[in-house]
Amino acid sequence: MELLVRARRTVTDRGEGPASVAVEGGRIVRVGGFDDPVGADEVVELGEEVVLLPGLVDSHVHVNEPGHDTWEGFASATRAAAAGGITTLVDMPLDSVPVTVDPAALAAKRAAATGQCFVDVGFWGGVVPGGTAHLPALREAGVLGFKCFLSDSGSPDFPPLSRRQLLETLRVLRELDAVLLVHAESERELSAAPPARGRRYADFLASRPPQAELAAVAAVLDAARATGARVHIVHLSTARALPLIAAARREGVRVTAETCPHYLTLAAELVPDGATEYACCPPVREAANQDGLWAGLADGTLDLVVSDHSPCAAGLKHLDTGDFGAAWGGISSLQLALPLVWTQARRRGFRLPEVATWMASSPARLAGLSAKGRIAPGYDADLCVFAPDDTFTVRPETLHHRQPVTPYAGRTLHGVVRRTWLRGREVDFRYPAGGLLTAEATAERHESDNQNPGGNR
Ligand SMILES: [Zn+2]
Repeated sequence: MELLVRARRTVTDRGEGPASVAVEGGRIVRVGGFDDPVGADEVVELGEEVVLLPGLVDSHVHVNEPGHDTWEGFASATRAAAAGGITTLVDMPLDSVPVTVDPAALAAKRAAATGQCFVDVGFWGGVVPGGTAHLPALREAGVLGFKCFLSDSGSPDFPPLSRRQLLETLRVLRELDAVLLVHAESERELSAAPPARGRRYADFLASRPPQAELAAVAAVLDAARATGARVHIVHLSTARALPLIAAARREGVRVTAETCPHYLTLAAELVPDGATEYACCPPVREAANQDGLWAGLADGTLDLVVSDHSPCAAGLKHLDTGDFGAAWGGISSLQLALPLVWTQARRRGFRLPEVATWMASSPARLAGLSAKGRIAPGYDADLCVFAPDDTFTVRPETLHHRQPVTPYAGRTLHGVVRRTWLRGREVDFRYPAGGLLTAEATAERHESDNQNPGGNR
């Protein structure tokens, strides 16, 4: 064997327990007892204080390169991922130039990524009006599935689909046996809401009401029901949509859904006015809603938790004016997703095997990555050593994200990623990170707001 990891606490499909994981040729070839006599070139023995997790799979990441590589890029994003225990990420098809809506654009993405990735990377393809002709070729070229919007994406080169176009797309994707990821906010409901402007978070929240998500989720479920195609609701924010999704699934509609660390750990009541680092779409809602999302994870209506890491140039956040109407919607959390989720999950009585399901095996299944997300024979030897009881305080300058603007600055979190292996090889992510002054200023501004990390319920 090339590598043998003996861990007193290993997360497998059977839960958490002692095991030895043998690796050959980058794959897990055997999962046996802790003391099983297995020879290997390198033997790693882990103590009681750490847990061996499957490398996480983050199926919702905006890498932005090519085109916006000052926002984020493959080198910085994948290093941040490795530092956060994520060994596979799937890149979203918008916010780069070109957007990934045809095979030439996918080739440009791949060329940009080549030679600079610390972890494995896959790609979603984009569907825009008039783009269905490209879908078979994109699928053939290797995209893992497709993504569309039902409301303004914020990018003029990635317009939303109409209901008719959504149906047409799903008919094509059913034939290709490919999943459609949908940003589910209804343009009609958003237009009917008061427009976002100014520094008050309450006004921003009112501009993107739960009704916008409810109407769009209902439309997606109708379209999935009518076509038999597979759909996935990305970044669900309102817990009020959960009964719709659960009911559709009971009647056989092929639907899955995800939520994100920010919806699970931040609460509208605690967002300071003018703090545009909290701006994202759909928005972070009230604490009572957050409880509903955790209940959705507990009962399985929500399948997975992914970062929706969505950076931008620091200026686009308008941190200086704090105008939510002007600020880029997106929160970066690639490196922090696991400790953010774990900090809340442990408080709510969940254990690491459940977190591994939400953040490794379920996203791998969504993306059709059959060798990822589990510690089991035949799977890639993607592993993460996690110290669940260790704590750290988020300091933006320690993040590998290219733009370390974060609403989590100053927060104390549980869970430190100590080591990460990708296909049997340890990833050296401990490269000194260059912090940007803009983020430090942000950290100072909100240090006082975040002094009570346990209070965000
Ligand atoms: Zn996104």
